[in-house]
Amino acid sequence: MLDKIKRFLDEREKWVSYGKPLRQPERIEELFAICSGCEFFEPKSEGIGRCGECGCNLKKEGTNLNKLAWATTHCPLEEPKWNEEPNLVLERPTETEEERHTRRVAERAEVHAARAIQQVAQQAAQQAAQKIDQQANPPKPKKGGCGCGK
Ligand code: SF4
Repeated sequence: MLDKIKRFLDEREKWVSYGKPLRQPERIEELFAICSGCEFFEPKSEGIGRCGECGCNLKKEGTNLNKLAWATTHCPLEEPKWNEEPNLVLERPTETEEERHTRRVAERAEVHAARAIQQVAQQAAQQAAQKIDQQANPPKPKKGGCGCGK
C-alpha cells in the first residue's frame, strides 16, 4: 500500500516537474483500450479502473487523478505496453520569469502537501500495526490481581 502511494507521488512529482503536460483525449482513450485488455487491469466501473501493478487510477476520460492523462507516465511493466509521450519537452509551455516562479512555488507546496499525506498514512499504518500487535499479545495480569506484585 505505502509502496503504491510512493509510486503515485513519484509519478506526480515527475509530471509536475515537466509543467503538468497532458495527453490528448484521443490518446487517453487509446491507452485505456490497451489497459482494459491487460491482465493487471482491475475494473471499478464503466470507463474506470486501476492498474494492479502500480496501483494508479486509469480512466477513459478526464485528467483528474488519471495516470493515463499525464504525458510523463508509462506502463510499469518491465516491457511497458505504452510509454511517455516522446515530445514532452516541446509541449512545455513558454513562461515568463514571474510565471515560472509562481509555478515553482505552487509545485513545491503541492509536493509538501503530498508528502504530508504520505506521512499521515505511514503513521496511521504504524498505529494500526501496534494495535493489532497489542490485541494479539495482551499484557499479562499481575500476581494477586491487586497490582501490588505479590
Ligand atoms: S499500466 Fe500497464 S500493467 Fe497497468 S493495466 Fe495498463 S497496461 Fe497493464
